[in-house]
Amino acid sequence: MLRDGQRRGHLDLEASELAIRASMHQLGGMVLEKLLNADGGGYRGARIDCGQGHEAEFVDYRRKEVLTVLAPVQVQRAYYSCADCGGGVIPKDQELDIAGTSFSPGVRRMMGRVGAKEAFDEGRRDLHELAGVVVRTKAVERVAEALGDEVEAVAIQERHAALAGKLVSLTSVPKLYLAIDGTGVPMVPRETVGRQGKEGTGTAKTREAKLGCLFTQTRLDERGHPVRDEASTTYVGAIETAEVFGGRMYAEAVRRGLLRAEQVIVLGDGAPWIWGIADEHFPGAIQIVDLYHAREHLADLAKLVYGPASAAAKDWAAGRREELDAGEVEQVVAAMRRLRPRRTEVREAVRKAVSYFKTNAERMRYARFRSQGLFVGSGVVEAGCKTIVGLRLKQSGMRWTVRGANAILALRCAELSGRWEEFWEARSAG
Ligand SMILES: [Zn+2]
Repeated sequence: MLRDGQRRGHLDLEASELAIRASMHQLGGMVLEKLLNADGGGYRGARIDCGQGHEAEFVDYRRKEVLTVLAPVQVQRAYYSCADCGGGVIPKDQELDIAGTSFSPGVRRMMGRVGAKEAFDEGRRDLHELAGVVVRTKAVERVAEALGDEVEAVAIQERHAALAGKLVSLTSVPKLYLAIDGTGVPMVPRETVGRQGKEGTGTAKTREAKLGCLFTQTRLDERGHPVRDEASTTYVGAIETAEVFGGRMYAEAVRRGLLRAEQVIVLGDGAPWIWGIADEHFPGAIQIVDLYHAREHLADLAKLVYGPASAAAKDWAAGRREELDAGEVEQVVAAMRRLRPRRTEVREAVRKAVSYFKTNAERMRYARFRSQGLFVGSGVVEAGCKTIVGLRLKQSGMRWTVRGANAILALRCAELSGRWEEFWEARSAG
């Protein structure tokens, strides 16, 4: 580097820093390799417990290459064989947390982080560029998904504990909001075989990811508007049936203080499965149709009846919006019934809208909800859907399996709920 600097008259800083980092990584790798093999291979005697209650016999020492955040290292490990299980046992791999993988925990953690944040190939490039760690795209995918599975395993334990009454939250919250929504995730063809698309046209290309945002509210601002407690939002999400998702939502609600909450509010877009979950798991909760969703229904209908860009559509929607904001749902419905569309499909849309507003009338008493100091639409769940699902899973060209999508959803929910560290600690402790 010195000679090169003399030749060109100055030092190439970028080339130098990167070259030095690379050699530091190599040097560090050598030190780490020595450290890892200082035990001579982790011999535990001629016989050990295989972990399933049998005796495993020492066979020999085996080397494995493990990629660490410094460099690839060779690790010498005592290999035992269990005749009853018909498999090998390597206690040292368990201790080092490298069982069944050739990536160190530090590298896997990085792969999990980038895989949760961006497309796997982008993640691979970031690892190379930022950390000098070179892996294949497929490896980022596999490791990130495996970590997502582990996060989900912890979540399942929590769910069992919650249902068994063993999960206790010590926080007491005035108002606990449970906002629920669904959004389509593009799937590989085999995941949608036999499933009808939206409105019954053709085969579905997506599966619905269900997302729940939980947050608390303690105070009102000077104008009397509710204020979301800072950093109080946590997320759960998965592609699964409403029944399973209901249990997921319930467990998270318990963890967040459901049993000690003074008021529980379920916010949703009006989809029947959401109110099914509310009735089953959160009886007594105040049910509110997210105001922005309800407004959207009005705007969509107005465009359909009067034409997309017409002033009449705007006028009609504005009038209904006022009635809606006041919680006067009966007037909204009456106005819809006065519409006399000629085209059959528009008549059908009006009929559907009438049914939607009638069914959800008690969930749209916005004036009353506001006077109680409640959120009537938060945007939190919308934003959550966009951040957790949209930004990562709905990029152009992406096609997911249910398993892959759910693993990444688990990782992202953990990350955005501020629980990434907690899960990481839990897995290395377990
Ligand atoms: Zn065994």
